[in-house]
Amino acid sequence: MSYFRDLGLAEPILHALESKGYTDPTPIQRQAIPALLEGRDLLGIAQTGTGKTAAFSLPSLHRLAADPQPRKPASCRMLVLSPTRELAAQIAENMAAYAKNLRLVVDCVFGGVPVGKQARRLVPGVDILVATPGRLLDLIDQRALTLGRVEIFVLDEADQMMDLGFIHSLKRVANLLPKQRQSLFFSATMPKAIADLGKQFINNPVRVEVAPQSTTAERVEQFVTHLNQAEKQALLTLRIRTMLADKTLDRALVFTRTKHGADRVVRHLSAAKISARAIHGNKSQAQRTAALEAFRQGSCPILVATDIAARGIDVSGVSHVFNFELPNVPEQYVHRIGRTARAGADGVAISFCAPDEKPYLKDIEKLTGVKLMPMQLPENFLVEAARLPAPSRKPEELAQDARRDERDARGRGGQRNGGGQRSGDGQHKGGRVRDDRSPGGRAQGRDGRPRDPNPRNADRHEGDRGPVRNPVHGDREARPEGERGGDQQRSFRPRGVPGVGAHRNKVRRAS
Ligand code: AMP
Repeated sequence: MSYFRDLGLAEPILHALESKGYTDPTPIQRQAIPALLEGRDLLGIAQTGTGKTAAFSLPSLHRLAADPQPRKPASCRMLVLSPTRELAAQIAENMAAYAKNLRLVVDCVFGGVPVGKQARRLVPGVDILVATPGRLLDLIDQRALTLGRVEIFVLDEADQMMDLGFIHSLKRVANLLPKQRQSLFFSATMPKAIADLGKQFINNPVRVEVAPQSTTAERVEQFVTHLNQAEKQALLTLRIRTMLADKTLDRALVFTRTKHGADRVVRHLSAAKISARAIHGNKSQAQRTAALEAFRQGSCPILVATDIAARGIDVSGVSHVFNFELPNVPEQYVHRIGRTARAGADGVAISFCAPDEKPYLKDIEKLTGVKLMPMQLPENFLVEAARLPAPSRKPEELAQDARRDERDARGRGGQRNGGGQRSGDGQHKGGRVRDDRSPGGRAQGRDGRPRDPNPRNADRHEGDRGPVRNPVHGDREARPEGERGGDQQRSFRPRGVPGVGAHRNKVRRAS
């Protein structure tokens, strides 16, 4: 069985696949599609990049189209839950492309954009709704949506949902779904807590497991440079500048552990006349969409991201991944480098490892079974680093940084939280805002020049929010990353689902 046609999908779907240029199903598609066409539940252990979106979309579209139903107000026939806005938009975009020859309406709702327009769009009902959990529940609470007619339910990236603290939202959704339905549950990893969550949704599922995490890592050339934290910015700038000049780098993702760290990297790269943008939870939806679009189109070759913002983003042609800081959870490293080496292409991952990150490196090599190749500092590094321009800073930005540094230094109270201690893994602990740090809570040189490490720049790791306190509303619980920045914050003239092309009319706009 090597062609989509052999899997029994309807002609209009096969035509859509043809125009996407897909010929052969990927392994997860080959395994999942026949069972899903039969109406079975599915437990999928797979990460993005394996073709899992098409694996759940194609048979679902086939089944919905084979049993046409008039749309009913404020309802949907298929519900896909995704942890982040970007991933939700991407799924909706793909589904609309696969459904372009069918009479099915795909819509996508997520936080960070006005809820009113989304609610109005749901009035006549839709066939397929892709949603982040918080916004979905908002719409249900406003009586803009009911789940009583859901025939197919997909929970994507369950492990990421747990990390982001969506567990209670998911349980609520589970109670609102009809008992009679088909359920699909996907997760990149399947620890016991996730498997237990899965049991609440799926019934006698077919289990499909593809590409164990370590095999993805084997397709990427992986290097590590040992250096001090304070030298990292200069090395990054110099490496990127050289690689862009000799055209070995097309597009690179740079991962930082913190949001402020991502902004700082962008400031330094920009000062060196390297076009870069940041994507993280403090950016408005409009900024995130614009950055992603510029990166996709190639006008901005460097995207600096935190793990949560980057999770699930599918951009082809990422030639390099830089780990500005090593993640303290080794699986996260595999997710990161999986952004390159997509669709069969190989990629390069370059990690910067400060002395107190060495335990993380050890864990990564143990998980992947790959020893990272040492990459030496370039010749004349110190001289070249000293020549790099410092980013110009507005006085108010400097003052803001100084306040943040002071707060960080006070908050740390002399504690150190590095040396391989697993603290920043995004799990909730005891209902308090956790104050985990990047390893050792070190600073990086603001002026791009190596200087003594100090503890001033330790921003909170983006994934480290327990039941997060909303800084505006004090005790009220704020939404985790995928949902934050609610309606009150931004007025966003929507661009909707990024990159929707000829099938634009099939996805109702995101706001
Ligand atoms: P996903 O894992 O769903 O994020 O898909 C990863 C990438 O593979 C996306 O860019 C898809 O458009 C692409 N893709 C999915 N299925 C196929 C296929 N059968 N052949 C070629 N590309 C595919």
